[in-house]
Amino acid sequence: MNPVLTLSPIVRTHAFTVHTRRSPEFLDITEEVERAVAACGVREGIALVFSCHTTAAVRINENEPLLLRDMEEFLKRLAPRELYYSHNDFAIRTHNLTPEECPNAHAHLQHLLLGASEAVPIQGGKLALGRWQRIFLVELDRPRERRVLVQVVGCA
Ligand code: ZN
Repeated sequence: MNPVLTLSPIVRTHAFTVHTRRSPEFLDITEEVERAVAACGVREGIALVFSCHTTAAVRINENEPLLLRDMEEFLKRLAPRELYYSHNDFAIRTHNLTPEECPNAHAHLQHLLLGASEAVPIQGGKLALGRWQRIFLVELDRPRERRVLVQVVGCA
């Protein structure tokens, strides 16, 4: 039998929250993810970074301030806030309405293209990110507290 298969994997889930301030906004959460990976003792494995929201995404990209501005403008062009969307039409909408509901279809559509998670390889106990790669929580709706999960699976 392959000796690797006899090792029981480590699975650890770390949750944290971030406070966003505007929209769109790219918040660099790389250090928080690195801390979660370091704390769990996994040397070789995968870290899944997951946003628990439909209007806040997780994406890997470069943390360069002017690029972040470009990416924010790009998202606004893809799904402008001011267009008509059925999801925002509270005269016809009947599903998933809450007392604090606000028009946010643009944020859902931007999220559709970005996605809720990134998976990052762990090598030698560290995230195997490339030189310019950083992990971002991307706020697409009104600023608020956002919950992020880091699930680490691997071997010590
Ligand atoms: Zn919505």
